[in-house]
Amino acid sequence: MNDADLIRSNIARVRGRMADACEHSGRNPGSVRLLLATKTVEPERIRVAIEAGEKLVAENRVQEVRRKFEELDDLDYERHFIGHLQSNKINALLPYVSCIQSLDRMSLANKLQKKLEREEETREVLIQVNTSGEDSKFGLQPDQVGTFVRKVSHLDRLKVRGLMTIGLFTDDIELARPSLRRLRELRDEIRELNLEDVEMTELSMGMTGDLEVAIEEGSTIIRVGTAIFGARQTTDAYYWPESGT
Ligand SMILES: *Cc1c(COP(=O)(O)O)cnc(C)c1O
Repeated sequence: MNDADLIRSNIARVRGRMADACEHSGRNPGSVRLLLATKTVEPERIRVAIEAGEKLVAENRVQEVRRKFEELDDLDYERHFIGHLQSNKINALLPYVSCIQSLDRMSLANKLQKKLEREEETREVLIQVNTSGEDSKFGLQPDQVGTFVRKVSHLDRLKVRGLMTIGLFTDDIELARPSLRRLRELRDEIRELNLEDVEMTELSMGMTGDLEVAIEEGSTIIRVGTAIFGARQTTDAYYWPESGT
């Protein structure tokens, strides 16, 4: 099988896993989107996936965003950001993405608001939560999320659409379940606050290893890299530069 065929058959396999998980948990298959996590993947390989019908792609590093998204500029698809965002990279990122899934601190929210005000634009954001308690992950602690979302709701340029988490890294997917379930519970708690200008529709959780459990726990966006594009050469610590791992 050539590389393009392999990517297409991997997508079919992931789509099959998603469909099975939806059926298993009585969910409408249309309620879960597949996001391609394309860090380190070259644009021509991403192109194969988009041309096969995929509509949602995200990068982790601002340095990769520009080159890769520009090369795929002729295609119609949605672009998100899922990496740790440093404030000094905001200007370089914003032209390329509609949603930042990794909002995790007020200083960043304020800077995004200022820049978007000047541009007379808005962006969607998801709030990143560290539900697994691992030090190596970015994201707010679960008990900080309510207060944080309330503050962000006053920033009119940022449209809060939901929450994002990276589940516990483990070979035993059942051990990841509590960290994924916690995100859903948090979403439900925040919905009850009825904050103006806040929609708690999206739960971005589930990756190659834990997508079934994430779907069972209510995920609306699963983010998949390895199962579609193969193993990455670079260790993931490279993408979480301040994580100290
Ligand atoms: C790399 C990455 C993914 C995809 O991980 P895989 O295990 O390769 O599917 C999902 N979410 C984030 C934030 C990532 O950095």
